[in-house]
Amino acid sequence: MPSGRTHDRITLWCLPWVAGMTFGLTRSGDLTLIVSGGFLFSGLMFSPDLDLNSRPYQRWGWLRWIWIPYQKSLRHRSVFSHGLAIGTIVRSLYLSCWLFLVGLLILGMLQLVWGVGWTWQVIANQVQRSLTQYPAEWIALFVGLELGAMSHSFSDWGGSAYKRFKKSGLKAVMPKRVKTRKRTGASNQRRVKKPTAKTQRTQR
Ligand SMILES: [Zn+2]
Repeated sequence: MPSGRTHDRITLWCLPWVAGMTFGLTRSGDLTLIVSGGFLFSGLMFSPDLDLNSRPYQRWGWLRWIWIPYQKSLRHRSVFSHGLAIGTIVRSLYLSCWLFLVGLLILGMLQLVWGVGWTWQVIANQVQRSLTQYPAEWIALFVGLELGAMSHSFSDWGGSAYKRFKKSGLKAVMPKRVKTRKRTGASNQRRVKKPTAKTQRTQR
């Protein structure tokens, strides 16, 4: 699998292409900025490799501890961190939970100190309004994040396949055929239970 530095380089090399293609497709500067920003953020900080002590994890600085429960609950390169779409969805939901907690804390403090009133209804309305008023922007953000994650996962897979190819040739890269085991007399014989201490005792 490629090193953290290689992943960073891939992100930076791909950025102009992502920006160019987004602008070509959308003709919108705003959406291009969101997709490119999402792609850059995803490649450098929101990467699937947050599931281990990696460069993206270190880049969170003193906030990096928020990713410790994520690392503890996923094994490295699990489908929930490196899988297509699912990786980005899980990370987005995970970060949203933290943002929600921080928001709750800030609102609680505002209420305590300045007596600012808020209800769940007001918050739910605000969230719903922002989601329904800017659907293209939210989609663009998700696309940017997912493209960043995809560039990571594909280079991981490509890197592993290349290493396997270098080690054991083309056969190692081809999809494995499921082996069907033929039952022969010999293997049937092997299936016969060996006498255990207990059965030996009863035989005697
Ligand atoms: Zn990875």
